[in-house]
Amino acid sequence: MTKKPRIYLYDSTLRDGAQTSTVNFSVRDKIEIARKLDELGIDYIEGGWPGANPTDDEFFSDLPQLKKSQFVAFGMTRRNNASAANDAGLNALINSNVESLCIVGKCWDFHLEHALQISEKENLEMISDSIAQITKKKKNAMFDAEHFFDGYKTNPKFALRVIETAYKAGARWIVLCDTNGGTLPQEISAIISEVTKKIPGENLGIHCHNDTGNAVANSIAAVLAGVRQIQGTINGLGERCGNANLISLIPTLVLKLGFNVGIDEKHLKNLVKTSNFLDDLLNKERDKFAPYVGKYAFAHKGGLHVSAVAKNAKCYEHIEPEKVGNKREIMISDQSGRSNVIERLKEIGIELRDEVKVSQVSNLVNKIKELEAQGYAYDAADASFEILAKKSLASVPNFFDLISFRVLDEQGKPSEATIKIKIADKVTMSVAEGNGPVNALDRALRKALSRKYPSLKNVKLTDYKVRILTPSAGTKAVTRVQIESSDEKGNKWTTIGVSENIVDASFRALHDSITYRLMRETV
Ligand SMILES: [Zn+2]
Repeated sequence: MTKKPRIYLYDSTLRDGAQTSTVNFSVRDKIEIARKLDELGIDYIEGGWPGANPTDDEFFSDLPQLKKSQFVAFGMTRRNNASAANDAGLNALINSNVESLCIVGKCWDFHLEHALQISEKENLEMISDSIAQITKKKKNAMFDAEHFFDGYKTNPKFALRVIETAYKAGARWIVLCDTNGGTLPQEISAIISEVTKKIPGENLGIHCHNDTGNAVANSIAAVLAGVRQIQGTINGLGERCGNANLISLIPTLVLKLGFNVGIDEKHLKNLVKTSNFLDDLLNKERDKFAPYVGKYAFAHKGGLHVSAVAKNAKCYEHIEPEKVGNKREIMISDQSGRSNVIERLKEIGIELRDEVKVSQVSNLVNKIKELEAQGYAYDAADASFEILAKKSLASVPNFFDLISFRVLDEQGKPSEATIKIKIADKVTMSVAEGNGPVNALDRALRKALSRKYPSLKNVKLTDYKVRILTPSAGTKAVTRVQIESSDEKGNKWTTIGVSENIVDASFRALHDSITYRLMRETV
């Protein structure tokens, strides 16, 4: 087999990603993200735009030391009617302490007429002068060909003249941008095969936006047509619908297409970690369905799938999850056969050895089906499943008993909860206020437990979901509460409670959450 060429990865999370409508990175965030990108093994990290805002100035004034990645500063060509040597913006860029500079220029005649009101000759001079000035100062120039594909579609000769000018002036990389994100994969392939007649693929890059959901597909089409640099962001962060998602692209390039992207097997396992890191930093819920890295990317629910996967995972998995740092997940639901339950039990450390256990498993499967008919859903509540399983097959210590609770809710006032519990033989009562009845109840319960179990102080309720389940014939409407808890080490677990009463359903989920945490401590 011929050796596949090296593809260079260029991350734009800190510049294009920072333009996502809900995102605002601090200098500290930028440093942490850069370190993670370096750990993963990205070639180029676009740090931002020095001279454009105080955050980027501060970031560039003290860049973190990296092992592998190199920083790139982003900016514009010189302005019209200024010399490249005297242009303040271009100088701020050239004087920033990085070796590679990426400057953006216009490739669409429509923009010259309507936005800049300059002639084609002036545009080409702005580009060639700026790149010549960068190379004169012994730095690497990259040219960001803004709106290249839209420009090419309306006036191909014009667009090609722009990038040829940049290439001849000494740009190491010409990055073809689908700035508006409206180009489709077959157009990318066709246009790039024309471009490579003028500029070699080893000097071409691709920068795609996801406005038709094709940013990843377009980037792959570009690489297959010959480009050698891919720009994108972690988790596809970026303006509007986002940029090409490097987290999906990297494993596809390596595992499916056999390209060398400068990331070895060991570092490829950092993918899940890197993706989760960014969501956590943004305080954003993780996308459980994300390709390769989502919690459900290798989850099996249907009984038939599970028994096949147990025999050979290839039956329903396109790659081995471990390669990208993910793991197989066996879901429990009313569609579960015994095989799901047995696989899940193995995961939580319960091995089945003798006949007695096998009959107990049947009881557990029946119990799950019965509870799911009442409204429980164990596929998304792993901690509640573990408690249920251990109760039927092994044992779960009884950490406390509830005697009673009461919640007072008066309009315009904080909710107040009173709870009475028994730990061993000792009765404890506590009262707490909270923002809503569940919060008050959670606080009161934890207060009552804290003397005996001080570690519960570190447990936080991080997500709370309520669903009213519509009744089927002969049943009443019930409420399903699902809560996610986490501790100081970043462990997360999900529990569930179902009842006709929302506070009662919440209490059941809280009870499981606390039991799970204490159970973990005692192992
Ligand atoms: Zn962009």
